[in-house]
Amino acid sequence: MYNLKDIIERYQLKAKKSLGQNFILDANLLDKIARVALAGISPSIVLEVGPGPGGLTHALLKQEVPKLVAVEKDDICVQALQELQQNYPTLSIVHEDALKFQENELGDEICVVSNLPYNVSTVLLVKWLKEIHLFSRLTLMFQKEVADRLTACAGDASYGRLSVLVGWLCDVSTEMILPPAVFTPSPKVTSALVRITPKENIYPSVQFPTMEKITAAAFGQRRKMLRSSLKSLGNPEALCSAAGIETSLRAEDVPVEAYCKMALYLQGEDR
Ligand code: SAM
Repeated sequence: MYNLKDIIERYQLKAKKSLGQNFILDANLLDKIARVALAGISPSIVLEVGPGPGGLTHALLKQEVPKLVAVEKDDICVQALQELQQNYPTLSIVHEDALKFQENELGDEICVVSNLPYNVSTVLLVKWLKEIHLFSRLTLMFQKEVADRLTACAGDASYGRLSVLVGWLCDVSTEMILPPAVFTPSPKVTSALVRITPKENIYPSVQFPTMEKITAAAFGQRRKMLRSSLKSLGNPEALCSAAGIETSLRAEDVPVEAYCKMALYLQGEDR
């Protein structure tokens, strides 16, 4: 039996703000998150980023995942996790910054589960989106405001760069909304557990850097019309015409598909 509160006491684990440490200690909730993450799939490998003292790690191991790789930056958490490893040899602990971790060394069909450190959550997500072919599913805790951006469609108030990048490559659904009180210490924000499923890419030749470039130009001046905001990319009229949209639209009203068509035009390709 892995007693989380006992572990935290014995290792004198004090949550570090710099590492986005807001732990979940409620075993029932952790079990529920693990069940949501693994529902309907039997992944051969699960990657957990930021296992902390191991609450969610334990919940995942109880679901008998064949291999769980846990990447943690904090030295003390890594020591605590070694106790869990004694009972679960399928757990591999990697003491590393997840921003530098090479997921491709794990193979593909990776299932990611993480109560993310919020200070690096979007940087990590963009890193994974760039190599989306490696992943079968990502179940991630974000602050709700970020989750809203991930699920937003053109015209929604939260629609932005991240909505386009994720909407191009994945299906996204919000699975749970969690109040601050379920975390220790409690953050100031509400959180949301999001399921991200890579989808069949309908624009496979669109390159990530091109989409980053277009969305940066468009949303960098989101209140301006495309005829003005896309000037830095060359000819806004030609770009918009390739996508079948008016140059009088603003970035926030342009659907994902139109961004893909503009990307193809910029790359000098037809669909
Ligand atoms: N999984 C635990 C839970 O649910 O209670 C802890 C989640 S806590 C929100 C985020 C965890 O990510 C912390 O354990 C923190 O030390 C770790 N972390 C923060 N930045 C990291 C990074 N760059 N690489 C790896 N782990 C990181």
